[in-house]
Amino acid sequence: MKFCPNCGVSPVAHEVPEGDNRLRHICRACGEIHYSNPKIVCGTLPVWQGKVLLCKRAIEPRYGKWTLPAGFMENGESVLDGALRETHEEALTRVNAPQLLTVLSVPMINQVHMMFWGEMPSHDFGVTPESLAVQLFTEDEIPWDEIAFRTVKTTLEHYFACRRAGDYTLHVSTISH
Ligand SMILES: [Zn+2]
Repeated sequence: MKFCPNCGVSPVAHEVPEGDNRLRHICRACGEIHYSNPKIVCGTLPVWQGKVLLCKRAIEPRYGKWTLPAGFMENGESVLDGALRETHEEALTRVNAPQLLTVLSVPMINQVHMMFWGEMPSHDFGVTPESLAVQLFTEDEIPWDEIAFRTVKTTLEHYFACRRAGDYTLHVSTISH
């Protein structure tokens, strides 16, 4: 951030506001403090007849690697709405009765990833401009060495552990690099 998005006129300073203990972007003209906070990434783990739906990324980063349909939550939507929107945008599919499966903090990149799982209501899914391929995988077929992100790997591992246990629990952890 170089200029204040509030008033548009003044370059922002980088300093610790009074009563605070962190560096913030502050506008010297209008006084606005521009806080920077973690972003939420939300998505789903869609399941059809025991197989898990993965998308092959058509965009950087990790072009060509496999991921679950997920993306940044937008203003004005719930985290579940965001997860379902991303699922449709990336894989043209839906899930029934979505259940929160993982909440993963990734402090190195200031993100929190929240993933739901659910059964697909039908076999309908498809490729979109964001995916090179969309495909169903059995547990044995999962391309573990070609998974795009640690959060996706952790979510897949937790899902299969829950399925073996017959008990779908919420997994909360921190991914540190
Ligand atoms: Zn300003």
